Amino acid sequence: MTDDTSAANTASTVTWSSLDPYAQLVRVLLPRMSGLSVFNVRAEVCWSSEMMAIDQATRRLIWESLSTAARQPGQPGEELQSDEGEPLYVFWLRRDGEEHEVFAVVAVRCRAGTEAEQRPFSYFHALVRPAIECLRRELLARREIVDLQDSVATHDSDLSMLLEVAGSGAERHADSADDLKDILANAARHMSAGLAALIVPEKNLVLVHAGEKDAMDPGLVAKAHRHLLSMAQMRREAVIASRVKLTSGEKASCCCILSCPVLRNDGTPMGVLALFRRDDAPEFVARHMRLAELVARRVGTMISNSYDALTGLLTRPAFEQRVQSVLKARSGSSSWSALYLDMNRLHVINDTFGMHVGDRVLTQVGELIRQRLPPGAIAARISGDRFALLFLAELNVASNFAEALRQGVEKISMQIGDGSMQVSASIGVAAVDARCQGFTHAFAAAETACKAANDRGRNRVEVFEESDASIIKRFTDINVIGDLRTAMVEDRLLLNAQLLAPLSTRHHVPHFEILLRMINADGVTVGPDHFLSAAQRYQIMPEIDRWVIGQAIEMLKPHADLLAEDPVIFTINFSGQSLREAGFTDHVAGLIQTSGINPAALCFELTESAAVGNLKHAEELMRRLCKLGCGIALDDFGTGLSSLAYLRSLPISMLKIDGSFVRDVLKDPKAESMIQAVAQLARAMNLVTVAEYVETDEIRMRVAQLGVDYGQGFAIGKPMLLADVLAQLPLYAAAAASPHPPDAPFTAIAV
Ligand code: C2E
Ligand code: CA
Ligand code: CA
Repeated sequence: MTDDTSAANTASTVTWSSLDPYAQLVRVLLPRMSGLSVFNVRAEVCWSSEMMAIDQATRRLIWESLSTAARQPGQPGEELQSDEGEPLYVFWLRRDGEEHEVFAVVAVRCRAGTEAEQRPFSYFHALVRPAIECLRRELLARREIVDLQDSVATHDSDLSMLLEVAGSGAERHADSADDLKDILANAARHMSAGLAALIVPEKNLVLVHAGEKDAMDPGLVAKAHRHLLSMAQMRREAVIASRVKLTSGEKASCCCILSCPVLRNDGTPMGVLALFRRDDAPEFVARHMRLAELVARRVGTMISNSYDALTGLLTRPAFEQRVQSVLKARSGSSSWSALYLDMNRLHVINDTFGMHVGDRVLTQVGELIRQRLPPGAIAARISGDRFALLFLAELNVASNFAEALRQGVEKISMQIGDGSMQVSASIGVAAVDARCQGFTHAFAAAETACKAANDRGRNRVEVFEESDASIIKRFTDINVIGDLRTAMVEDRLLLNAQLLAPLSTRHHVPHFEILLRMINADGVTVGPDHFLSAAQRYQIMPEIDRWVIGQAIEMLKPHADLLAEDPVIFTINFSGQSLREAGFTDHVAGLIQTSGINPAALCFELTESAAVGNLKHAEELMRRLCKLGCGIALDDFGTGLSSLAYLRSLPISMLKIDGSFVRDVLKDPKAESMIQAVAQLARAMNLVTVAEYVETDEIRMRVAQLGVDYGQGFAIGKPMLLADVLAQLPLYAAAAASPHPPDAPFTAIAV
């Protein structure tokens, strides 16, 4: 609903409904009354007790009487004579305290009487005065109700507009230009503007919306633009300017402008919101100023959230949204390119010259990008020192642009005035084509090319090319990492467990190794061979290890009571990368200590090569876990340096002989003697041994003969859901509690 028409309509229907009781009252007082009519200030009849229509002559009389009333403040009315010679008593109704302004006229028509009956107007006025006063009050009361309804209706509609404005972009992290366009259109519609504009020069943002009704020439914005911006600078509040003369082309127009500054978070103006009305339209009023201020405030917040304060470029979420809507709207034939820029060694600049210099470098890069950005292109600072751009251009044009940008970045060290500071960037470029299936893949491709530029010496531009094998490998990795991260967020990682069964009666506590699985986007469960090597190359193993350890502990917690006597031991893998991560040890120790789980029911597996490669850190972590009471296993033993000298310094409780030896034990005497030697030595050192990859019964029997304590492999038990193993836990607990441990080696339960 727009604001100016509805109020008048409601007034005419509600205010003037039946006034019959008053007409009857007056008739009692004036028996000769033939009719009572009420007129508004335009001399239009609003209600009448008379059956016949009020003629033009009467209306003219009332019209003249209204001017008399204006000249005679405080007078109650006058006596007139109708064309038919009948007396017409006219009473002027005024609001309380208003001497001049008449809001309605009551006309009482009487039949002509005899000479003797003719009395002065004051006589009749005194007679009917109480009745007329009641009528006046009634009309005023009705008027107030209507005004109230109007103002409620207006407030309702203001509120719904503001709610719409507040809701724009609220569900998303940041807002796109589309949201701003919606807000502008909404404000224009609601405030009956023929034209609305939002101008924020520092963000290259100019949005113009021509109203649906009484649309005005958008060219007027260009004419008023400078004036509006300086107004926003001078007055930090909404301002109404009437009769502003603007010329657009040949035409000169006169209009009314409501302008309101758009403020930054610190209260300084960054732009202006302006609404235009034709000069012949009703003027803007104070209410509109308040509304415009609220809208401008919302717009200011949206812009601040969408743009990075340091560089003036879009933030990552705003960029993604904008890119998505641009690509959705693109025509089939247009080619787009994605560009990914990574600043080289910005941390060195921060460390050497201070964060403020690092910030200045980023600001300058942002400025450089903004200055060079071709029309229609979109640019963002997507994280600390990384930028992303999307623009409408072929790959070769995009790579030329990237090269010019790289050279521009190189010159920044000189501009900042310190020759010793080396500023440079690596840039990757990729086409957004059918194969890249949208921008996520295109940006992954551009990022891959950028990483290749880093590998190949930095400060260079690389284009994503499918013939470039190393780039393709990185590209696959980036996609795998993306899938893995999504799987973590979407809860699509799960834990399996595989039995390590005792091979002789010397041991009777079954172990289970916890193994990670991912349910991929197609719903297929895949093993670590699909994702762990990429995770290793991208150094996100600590993130994965934390997840696995945390999840395993969460799943074991409900069984803490059963695990108190360690009827079963669970082994958990972790990677060499986690050893080097500060805080990892504390994190894991904290998890175990607060879990309430018996630490002896947990054993941590680290590969031999990871342990030997990070001996110092490995030793620290192992000692800490060992002190807590957890077991430590050396995994894939035999594939690393296999020096038992190293082992002496580490608090290890278990050695897992690598599957490659076990698999060959029947056919390779060297493998067989290696297993035997390790088994004997380990026993001498009080270490438990495990043979991995026990794929047949023959292998199981042979490794048992060679003195290996435990077997793990498909012939003993395939990995199964950890949840299923936990469901069987009471069985293991009962077996462990029995006074005679089973004679036969443990194989059956979990298979
Ligand atoms: P691993 O620690 O040596 O784990 C044993 C791997 O051998 C498992 O593969 C298991 O399914 C497989 N395996 C077991 N028995 C046999 C057999 O008889 N024949 C053959 N051919 N293979 C068998 P999976 O689950 O694919 O794990 C592969 C590797 O991924 C693991 O090797 C481990 O290094 C890593 N990994 C698995 N889960 C995790 C985890 O939660 N955290 C970390 N950091 N690494 C994990
Ligand atoms: Ca393992
Ligand atoms: Ca292993």
